[in-house]
Amino acid sequence: CGIVAYIGPRQAYPILIKGLHRLEYRGYDSAGVAVLNSDLKLYKCKGKVAALEEAVKDKDLSGNIGIAHTRWATHGEPNDVNAHPHFSYSRNLAIIHNGIIENYAPLKNELINRGFRFESETDTEVLIHLIEDIEINEKVSLAEAVQIALNQVVGAYAIVIIDKNDPDTLIAARKGSPLVVGIGENEFFVASDATPIVEYTREVVYLNDEEIAILHRNKEIKIKTITNIEKTPYIQTLEINLSA
Ligand code: GLU
Repeated sequence: CGIVAYIGPRQAYPILIKGLHRLEYRGYDSAGVAVLNSDLKLYKCKGKVAALEEAVKDKDLSGNIGIAHTRWATHGEPNDVNAHPHFSYSRNLAIIHNGIIENYAPLKNELINRGFRFESETDTEVLIHLIEDIEINEKVSLAEAVQIALNQVVGAYAIVIIDKNDPDTLIAARKGSPLVVGIGENEFFVASDATPIVEYTREVVYLNDEEIAILHRNKEIKIKTITNIEKTPYIQTLEINLSA
């Protein structure tokens, strides 16, 4: 139900956890985080953000790119395995997702027939295996695989994907569920709404339905539709009255 992601020069974990706290008002049943430096460190559990913080308090979560999620279960009971991020072991991708993939059942059956094994009961895990299947079989980039996969999906999504083999890129996309990108100095923030972002930057881009944002370290934001039409990012400056 809540998404936070970060790429830039700072340590990601404190920004991610603070962001999850700011999104707690939306309601949730589980929380999780993944931070990447040379290793991808992924922790998730049923319960409050505070329980996640407790679970990772002795862990090394250093790294300046990461994703975090609070889940409101729609497919699969609230438990540690069904919590996000979901991970693909063959391709080392991690995904967080808000929304519902309505046609997950036929997609899942097809992926099982193609040899994929599923860890969780979520609709979200279908999406990450679909993306890696397309990337490998169609020999396209990760961003292109995300575009192709999202064309096969019926439902609502706000997603962010991190690739263990590419610590310089975050990929985000949305349809139906909201997603906003904050643009700082050599850094990007992604969140379900602006509340986790405003203390760092007021420059934001609200993604439109069926748009994918490619957030590359030290480059400009790139936005395309899932049908691969390039869009000029519409950067808005948030006016926020902090005394309110
Ligand atoms: N449908 C997904 C799940 O059940 C995401 C739910 C959410 O929006 O938090 O895991």
